[in-house]
Amino acid sequence: MVYETAFYDILGVQPTCTPEELKKAYRKLALKFHPDKNPNEEEKFKQISMAYEVLSDPEKKAIYDEGGEAAIKQGAGGGRGGFHSPMDIFHMFFNGGFAGRKSERKSPNLIHTLSVTLEELYTGTKRKMVLQKNVICETCEGIGGKRGASQKCTLCRGTGVITKVQKIAPGLVQQCEERCRNCRGLGETIDDKDRCKECNGRKTVRVRKVIEVEVLKGMVDEQRIVLEGEGDQEPDHRPGDVVLVLEEKPHPVFKRNELDLLVHVQLQMAEALCGFRKVIKTLDGRDIFIQTYPGEVVKNFSTRCVMGEGMPMLNAPLEKGRLIIQFIVTFPETLPPEVVPGICKCLPYPPPDPIPEDHEEVAMVELPEQEYVVTNDDDEDSQDSGRMPGGRGGERVHMQQCTSS
Ligand SMILES: [Zn+2]
Ligand SMILES: [Zn+2]
Repeated sequence: MVYETAFYDILGVQPTCTPEELKKAYRKLALKFHPDKNPNEEEKFKQISMAYEVLSDPEKKAIYDEGGEAAIKQGAGGGRGGFHSPMDIFHMFFNGGFAGRKSERKSPNLIHTLSVTLEELYTGTKRKMVLQKNVICETCEGIGGKRGASQKCTLCRGTGVITKVQKIAPGLVQQCEERCRNCRGLGETIDDKDRCKECNGRKTVRVRKVIEVEVLKGMVDEQRIVLEGEGDQEPDHRPGDVVLVLEEKPHPVFKRNELDLLVHVQLQMAEALCGFRKVIKTLDGRDIFIQTYPGEVVKNFSTRCVMGEGMPMLNAPLEKGRLIIQFIVTFPETLPPEVVPGICKCLPYPPPDPIPEDHEEVAMVELPEQEYVVTNDDDEDSQDSGRMPGGRGGERVHMQQCTSS
């Protein structure tokens, strides 16, 4: 007599069943309720796994038979590391023996690129992706046909590969391995009549699976999100992983530099000299405004920063970097001559150089902006002298300066 039968009932077996019957029951149910097939039956899959984990282990089975689930849970909490995850049990089972060694062979990983906007990296997001993957065939339970129908391939002797020796020069041979065509690299063959109709003897079938991926706040370009065991399944292999590589799309307004966000704010000369108010739309859609007051001068290419308005830190999203604002001041093309004396009066205005008696007067002509950009990289004090306002090269250099400081 056993104390309770719930675990046996979950697997649909009698308490007197043999280990083979138990395995068979688990194999069938685990394939049927695997989350790849039945995403809504996760709880059921968990129960099946737990029941099998307990009943397939003679020691645990004895405890269960005597004291039921409560006794097992008490024992599991007492230092034996609790239960394995349902996926672990599934993979251990299909890797040739639950109690045995874990197979080191692993199916290749599936690698995908996931394009994300800077907004998504700021706020975090969940994305659904449709995945094509191989799963173990339910109809033949990953055997490829009727039980016992598979035979070792006679051509490759079960290795799945054929070694060819090629003579490439007198006395010189080259060995190369080729996938066996007779068994398609599987190492075994199944007669047509015994072959599984569902998978045509391949042991796996191709399915579409929708997976949800969580992009966390503060993740970065080229970051890898690994969905363990979500890749292709193959008998006798640990399933591969699905690896998603994030690709940050360029943003029209902000440029990211680790935790800092860089933004350019365009100012007219009058705003730079007399004060301004500007609204910046943040990556999560808030409007923040910045201002200066009359008399506060903002120089071209100068930078200021707002603490806490940069990118959130991964795994600590309340910590945020800085918003670095670089001002681009547009100089007026011309000035009405009548305002010039007034401006000269309120700005520093040194007297013109005296003209020596022996002099030559030369003319200046316009030069295309891109042709020469004077950067003064190694001359910190005269940053703004000689750089052409608005010139693209000059801007680039400045961005570098503010990222390194
Ligand atoms: Zn099949
Ligand atoms: Zn073969």
